[in-house]
Amino acid sequence: ARLKEGLNKTRNNIVHGIDSVFSGFSAIDDEFYEELEEILIMGDIGVNATSNILDRLKQQVKEQHIKEPSACKQLLIDSIKEQMQVGETAYDFEKKQSVILVIGVNGVGKTTSVGKLAGMLKEEGRKVLIAAADTFRAAAGEQLAGWANRAGVDMIGGAEGSDPASVVFDAVNAAKARHVDVLLCDTAGRLHNKKNLMEELKKMNRIIDREFPDAHRENLVVLDGTTGQNALAQAREFGEVADLTGIILTKMDGTAKGGIAVAIQSELNVPVKYIGVGEDMEDLQKFDPEQFVNALFD
Ligand code: GDP
Repeated sequence: ARLKEGLNKTRNNIVHGIDSVFSGFSAIDDEFYEELEEILIMGDIGVNATSNILDRLKQQVKEQHIKEPSACKQLLIDSIKEQMQVGETAYDFEKKQSVILVIGVNGVGKTTSVGKLAGMLKEEGRKVLIAAADTFRAAAGEQLAGWANRAGVDMIGGAEGSDPASVVFDAVNAAKARHVDVLLCDTAGRLHNKKNLMEELKKMNRIIDREFPDAHRENLVVLDGTTGQNALAQAREFGEVADLTGIILTKMDGTAKGGIAVAIQSELNVPVKYIGVGEDMEDLQKFDPEQFVNALFD
């Protein structure tokens, strides 16, 4: 229910448009497909993903000799679902000691997502430690300490302006010593310049490789779902310095452009693993394409 509610704006945008096409056409013709295409693209599903979705639909319609638009709605839904099956969505860190770097530019919802994720994992019975490796932004550590407190997990931080990589070093060794299941590292979204930021990320990854070679690793990039194409560009840049294993797509409650989830996965070939649908602890959800599309069309 929370997911459905969170996606209200997107539902209104995409689904109502699609419904009006299905009710407005009496035959499946070129114009029908063109209208569908326009609605999917307007819904930020992306040109490539839209074209894949419609190609599959056309093929099915032909194979099954479907004539009525209403009879192919389920095929469209299935085709969107299929488009969302990307990469490996396994949550391996639920089974193994894991170190998760959470990366992204300022303001996308990194700190909030780390806090929510800590709460979710704790709830599932995992022993969680948070590393506050955003030592650049003064308020970040305090904000994160508040989340750690609410989630009931420990946090390791550093003084403002201290080396973020040294925070990661300390946290990784604490995680080993304390037999932590999941170490969540919040990172800076901005340093003196972009090159600096990217170098810092590489350094953190090297430190984790060296200090904790056996850990399961994740690099989750946090993207603001309201920013559309910008989010894609950001993910590509981070992807150049870190092996992205998943996406946390935030602020899906504030946007009518939730279709971006389809576009981003298709373009990057990286799975969305979590979506943020609000500002509270429970407003982070494991992303399940099937559930997502069902919540949209239900
Ligand atoms: P950071 O700079 O990337 O660490 O971003 P923050 O975690 O500080 O988040 C920036 C703002 O976005 C805060 O006001 C958060 O409450 C808000 N925010 C984060 N995730 C979500 C979400 O899923 N939905 C909504 N509505 N707001 C969010």
